[in-house]
Amino acid sequence: MIVVMKENATMAELGQVLKALEDKGFQPRPNHGAQRTVIGIMEAGEGDLLELANMAGVEQISPLSSKFKMVSKDFKSDPTVVSVADFKIGGSEFVVMAGPCGVESTEQLLSTARQVKACGGRILRGGAYKPRTSPYSFQGLREEGLKILAQARNETGLPVITEIISPELVPLVARYSDILQIGSRNMQNYALLEAVGKERKPVMLKRGLMSTIEEMLLAAEYLMSGGNTQVMLCERGIRTFEKATRNTLDLSAVSVIKSMSHLPVIVDPSHAVGHVDYVADMCRASVASGADGIIIETHPNPAEALSDGPQSLTFSAFDELMISLRPVAQAMGRNMVERPEK
Ligand code: PEP
Ligand code: MN
Repeated sequence: MIVVMKENATMAELGQVLKALEDKGFQPRPNHGAQRTVIGIMEAGEGDLLELANMAGVEQISPLSSKFKMVSKDFKSDPTVVSVADFKIGGSEFVVMAGPCGVESTEQLLSTARQVKACGGRILRGGAYKPRTSPYSFQGLREEGLKILAQARNETGLPVITEIISPELVPLVARYSDILQIGSRNMQNYALLEAVGKERKPVMLKRGLMSTIEEMLLAAEYLMSGGNTQVMLCERGIRTFEKATRNTLDLSAVSVIKSMSHLPVIVDPSHAVGHVDYVADMCRASVASGADGIIIETHPNPAEALSDGPQSLTFSAFDELMISLRPVAQAMGRNMVERPEK
């Protein structure tokens, strides 16, 4: 159920409604929108709130009929804007996150971080814990990788995003990372979603390898119902019968999600197509799709990369891509941060 407060409701009236809900044993979740406050009461049924209808400041009480509650536009009609460092994701800026698939060494990450910054990238990506299909593949530098990420942030000022693969690691990774990444393989790891839901740090939830949009939104509902409201969704391709690309990039997911949810949407063309030849085109298409940003892989020497080399852009390809994104962003009415003077 939701209680919609009047536009001119006072703080005192809001406080009385929240208290009445708590007295009934509910856990009200107020959402302060630009126009009005909407209070979500996920556990209440239609008959539970009848007497609140006459309270001062209350405009309307209605059921949240869709399966999606806190992620839905019924609960929050204005877009969610996630603040990271001194900029915002989900507003007018198109944000580029870039870096290697995995953190391999200090030199590899620092050189990549400098290039990402010089080309106008906003956020440095790099996996310290790598969920690999084979147990014999590079598993990441783990805590050492987190320390290198922190070093790169200190040197360049770029905030960092890195993946969390299990609930026990949440406190450690949250200490180092500005954005917590939940990877495809863990989109429905509910223990992990609950642990990250308790954090108050931005989180990027990637779409599962074979998940529907509905399943992704319900996974995001776990994060939001746990109290973490700084949630971003990431389309990273899904498995289909097509073999020419690693996955099939479902760009229509951007429009579909935006029609249903207020959460920002990021696209990951690197993992979607799996090959450098197709990454740049899909980055430009991502901007045109209305996404709020992209996350892409770049490496100083992709041929030697310990993971995802075939889809990692060289530094010069990354530079060219960044130049080509600007006019598309402009055409979409989005701005990108200026390239710092080299
Ligand atoms: C990654 O971002 O390096 C990654 C493992 O992505 P995904 O979870 O989308 O496969
Ligand atoms: Mn990767």
